[in-house]
Amino acid sequence: MGLVTIADLHREPPEVVAKYVMWAEDLRDMYEKFIEEDEEDVNFAVGWHGAKARSGGLHASEISGACKRPAFYSLTGHPREDKKLDPFWKKRFRVGHMLHGMIQEDWRRLAEKSNGLISFEREVRIGPDLQPIAAQYDIHSSSDGVLVFRDHPWGPAVLRIGLEIKTESPLEFEKIKDVKPQHQRQTCVYMRCLDVPVLWTMYVNKGNQNIIPSKYPYLYTFDFNLWNQIEGEAKEVIHLATIKELPPRTEGISCEFCGYSSICNPEVLQMKERRKLAKEFRTKQQKKFSKGLRAPRSTP
Ligand code: SF4
Repeated sequence: MGLVTIADLHREPPEVVAKYVMWAEDLRDMYEKFIEEDEEDVNFAVGWHGAKARSGGLHASEISGACKRPAFYSLTGHPREDKKLDPFWKKRFRVGHMLHGMIQEDWRRLAEKSNGLISFEREVRIGPDLQPIAAQYDIHSSSDGVLVFRDHPWGPAVLRIGLEIKTESPLEFEKIKDVKPQHQRQTCVYMRCLDVPVLWTMYVNKGNQNIIPSKYPYLYTFDFNLWNQIEGEAKEVIHLATIKELPPRTEGISCEFCGYSSICNPEVLQMKERRKLAKEFRTKQQKKFSKGLRAPRSTP
């Protein structure tokens, strides 16, 4: 008896599912208590992959994103371009990576201290060699972590919970009222691939490190309808890639970071480029104009 796989959501009686979901709702308190009592010296390595480290196949972000074109380009063998990002974004991403590393290390140490009642696996890999569903759609990704709970030290698992850490700026954090749609889709792919029945999207405020509650809507069970929708869309894009028919663009902020923006050439980036050129032109004109207004040098 337990809530260990997605099938358990239907196999177990509703009261059993509810009992384990309530257990999962304690995650934030458990984490806060651990931090409160933690006085140890801590050392851990943290890092991130460069843009060139991307593996082939479909990524969770590609099949869970709003735009279908990245998946199409990836499936049809177009190379991703390593974009030169503005330092503003790079610094933000790096702080996010650091917080991810710290929180994953906290959960690892919390599990270590549980004497076999909890285990935590970080950066759980998803790939065709590991899960049949990842093999079916050639999915390559990794989730932030999976927590496993037991009734007895090192006994059988009774509850498995996926953990997805999302760091947000103070302004964005205050606006959060639900899991963002792209995060719902991304975590749905992780849950399906890793066969995890419950997941907590742990939003963290980058300004003051406040954490969103581990309750609905941030803690949720596997959404069968959403998965059916994502799977349907994945099948459609695979079909389009087979017949070489380019899906329409869905433009937005993601175009800024999209590795296929050069080949796709979305209007949103064309407009940005036009605004940049116009600004450069205006600055040059202003310089010329201000030079023209200078008092002429007196001749000797
Ligand atoms: S640049 Fe934008 S519209 Fe084009 S593929 Fe990427 S996300 Fe889609």
